[in-house]
Amino acid sequence: MVFSCALKNIKGVVQDIVHYVMHTTDLAAAMMDLGSVIQPDFTIVDMIKPMEGYGPHSGTAADVGCIVAGKDMVAIDATACRIVGLSLEDVPYFDAALEKGLGVFDEKLIEIRGNSIKEVAKKLFLPYLDGFDAFPEYTFHVDRGCSSCQGLAAFTMSKLKSLNEYTKNAGMHIAIGKVRGIPENIKEGNELLLFGDCTKSLKKRLEKEGRTALYCEGCPPAEPFPAWMMIQRMTAEEIVLSEGEALRSRMEEEDKLFGQWVAEQQKS
Ligand code: SF4
Repeated sequence: MVFSCALKNIKGVVQDIVHYVMHTTDLAAAMMDLGSVIQPDFTIVDMIKPMEGYGPHSGTAADVGCIVAGKDMVAIDATACRIVGLSLEDVPYFDAALEKGLGVFDEKLIEIRGNSIKEVAKKLFLPYLDGFDAFPEYTFHVDRGCSSCQGLAAFTMSKLKSLNEYTKNAGMHIAIGKVRGIPENIKEGNELLLFGDCTKSLKKRLEKEGRTALYCEGCPPAEPFPAWMMIQRMTAEEIVLSEGEALRSRMEEEDKLFGQWVAEQQKS
């Protein structure tokens, strides 16, 4: 969704199972269905230190230092986007809100009291705007894969870059969601990572044909296993067995490297 604010916050009111189903359908439309029946009297957005960068898995706190509040969730989200330098066109749910007839986006129709947008504006670091297009060295096969797996897959690509493993593993294929059939151009064996529980049926179909793939289970898989499986071309179980006690220190070391890499990206 690129951006989580007032409208996405409403997703917190539904039961876990509904939350899960929302992620596997059209999330933006589902959010607007909720937003049309659950309309808070007042919403307060804490933008003192919002998350930027590689969230939700590994975001960093930015200094924006303001609070946005109001009655119209769409107007709040549109204003928050304008404050952080994010074009409304880059956030898929604004179109869905327009379709549903929810709220006001037009800046001229939004009354801002207190500091103006210009006075508090602070551009955030938004590395995910290009989606998988940012990783042309890899092939992604996505069919109804929800935002959790897609977000984690994008994070995994960034993680590989931070560990200097991105180029070494270029050419791999990644399947996400309910990929039906087996695309002719899909690779197999250690060159194919099946990402998440939804790909289990693809795994079975491949096995029926005597083919194999790396399968990273979980809904979504647990980070950092997708990256480790791509680097080592081993199953998660094999990695756990081979690392043993060293698993925790490896994670800490990689987190440190990732933090340094992110800091360099932000500077450039
Ligand atoms: S396995 Fe991934 S794509 Fe499938 S429902 Fe879970 S998080 Fe979504």
